[in-house]
Parts: sequence; C-alpha cells; structure tokens
Amino acid sequence: MKKKTIALVAHDNRKEDLIEWVEWNYQILTEHKMICTGTTGKLVEKAIMKKLALEGDHGLDITKLKSGPLGGDQQLGALICDGKVDVLIFLWDPMQPQPHDVDVKALLRISVLYNLPIANNRATADYLISSPLFDGHEYEPVVKDYSSYINRMG
Ligand code: PGA
Repeated sequence: MKKKTIALVAHDNRKEDLIEWVEWNYQILTEHKMICTGTTGKLVEKAIMKKLALEGDHGLDITKLKSGPLGGDQQLGALICDGKVDVLIFLWDPMQPQPHDVDVKALLRISVLYNLPIANNRATADYLISSPLFDGHEYEPVVKDYSSYINRMG
C-alpha cells in the first residue's frame, strides 16, 4: 500500500475536535504520513504518542510546518501545488475571524483548484477516512486542464 500524505490543520477553537478525531483514527493515520501546521502538529503528535504509549524519539511520520498565522497555511498551499498532499483535514473556525483569514481563503482555494479531497468538519472527515479510496487504493485526482490558460500569451 502506498502511504498517503494527510494534512491536518485546526483553528484554536477546533483543535479539541480534531484531537478527538485523531484519537479515534490514530491507527489508520499512523499508517500514513502526516503534515500539520505548527501548533496542530504538536497536539496531534502528543495525542498519538499517548495512544501508542510512546516516549522521546518516537519515529512517527509527522511534519510540522510553521504555525498557521506565521505562514504555515501558505507552506501547506505550496506543497499542495507541488502535488505533495493527498488529503486535507482542515477544521476552520466558522465563528471567529482569524488574523490570517486571507491565508485560510488561499488554502481553501488552492485545495479546490487541485481537486484535493478536503474535510472542513468532522462528519466529512469521518466519510473521507472510511472511504475505500483512503486506504489501500491509489487515487490520482483529475486536475482540470489549464494549458490554454498557461499558454494564453504564447
Ligand atoms: P496552528 O495553525 O496549527 O499553528 O495553530 C492553524 C491555523 O490557524 O491555520
């Protein structure tokens, strides 16, 4: 089975929800690579280490980017453009504006542009992680052909 790269991001008011979801799904998640924004990553790592009773140098495959408001969402967007992310679980806060709202919008836009499977709430995250396409299947999202746009001045 080819490991997927799963990006996990949660705004502060949604971190509890995401961690609870990670605790439910850590067995599947640890079969894959994870990429998180900074603070989310620390919490995800701590939760999984606790579940697996790991200490110190644990060998979990979790990359921690910068914190979202410090550019982490943009780093993740760049990875999506380069085809380095397979699934995005992004629990954003529907009740509060963020200092990096423009970055959040950019991340959502780029995810749609590259036809990335994204979950913005727990129910969708549950559907995604239990899909047969999630585990054990190769899946290449079809990306719209932008060649006429790219070559428009050529
Ligand atoms: P954080 O960033 O994981 O560093 O809190 C999340 C975000 O706000 O995008």
